[in-house]
Amino acid sequence: MSNGHESVHEISIERLKHWLIEHNEQVSREYSSPDAAFLRRQYRANHKTEIVAFECMDGRLNLALMSETPLGIVQSVRNLGGIFDLGWFYLNEMFDDLVGYAVKHGRDCLAFVTYHWSRGELHRGCRGHNYNVDVARTDMMHMTHQIEEIFGVKHSVVYPICLGIETDEDAFLFHGSEGRTLDVSTLRDPSSDELRIRLMELYPDMKKQMLNDLLPIVEGNVRHVAAVRASNRQILDAEHRERILGVGRGFDWLHVNNLALIVGPFDPNLDGAIEVATKLLLGNIDAKRIPQDGIILLASETYRDPAGSDKPGAMVKSRFARDFALKTIGKDVPSLRKLLIPMACVVDVNTRKLHLI
Ligand SMILES: [Zn+2]
Repeated sequence: MSNGHESVHEISIERLKHWLIEHNEQVSREYSSPDAAFLRRQYRANHKTEIVAFECMDGRLNLALMSETPLGIVQSVRNLGGIFDLGWFYLNEMFDDLVGYAVKHGRDCLAFVTYHWSRGELHRGCRGHNYNVDVARTDMMHMTHQIEEIFGVKHSVVYPICLGIETDEDAFLFHGSEGRTLDVSTLRDPSSDELRIRLMELYPDMKKQMLNDLLPIVEGNVRHVAAVRASNRQILDAEHRERILGVGRGFDWLHVNNLALIVGPFDPNLDGAIEVATKLLLGNIDAKRIPQDGIILLASETYRDPAGSDKPGAMVKSRFARDFALKTIGKDVPSLRKLLIPMACVVDVNTRKLHLI
């Protein structure tokens, strides 16, 4: 963003380290406040659908931010290129747990399977897909078909939506049945009723409750795109400017555009994803889009129960992620290794509070 967030792309790496801790404290304080907890409860009471977004590790992507959805509603799952396969053991298990949780609470689940591109310049698109949008869409279709294969199509509790994200304006492109699409960048001040009709055409078999819960995501993106246009965002801000490599889970508190590349722990070829992310970061330094004084490697894992084995288990995972990333980068991208500032943390999902190890 070309507003107050821009400074985090320019401050020294030492200051960025302190900023991270302070920012987390502030977000955690707000997240834990009675007002925010009430708003979340109210949102979840009105919108009973669980929302999960499969996203590329790219720091410019953030479905929650781009749809102006309150923190803690969208569960973001990240990997290189937004490429996922439900044959991956850990991913399959994690997604099955999530759907099981939704079913237990009488909820359905919307799964956004996303890809991204840039309208203005091919090479501002997705490195993980070698900038090829057609290949990206084919990969997304593969994932949506896997979801349908596992959970069924008719009356299923999981509804996959293939979603394109255009990163110059952060506009969503919804893919629907029979090749129909809804491109938010072309909408001019649409009413809720108009949008609802368009969504019903796009997803004729979608349950009414789910449609109600999809609507605010679309409306939020309409507002967000209008704000991006009004801010006259510089093209530099639409290019990669990440300074942090996140490895693991529990990064939604960061909530800042274009600051961190996030590699989830799901891909069996984790080292390949880390290598591509590291090369993107090195590219940011070489092109002088960010300061030259370092990159933060932030390993993270989440825990829910502060008393039991959950937290120490998360600590073991986080340390492993840090050491694994350091080893991979030392081997594959040694020129960046000396610029790395490693940090490992665990995040309490109840408060989003980060604890350094
Ligand atoms: Zn990408």
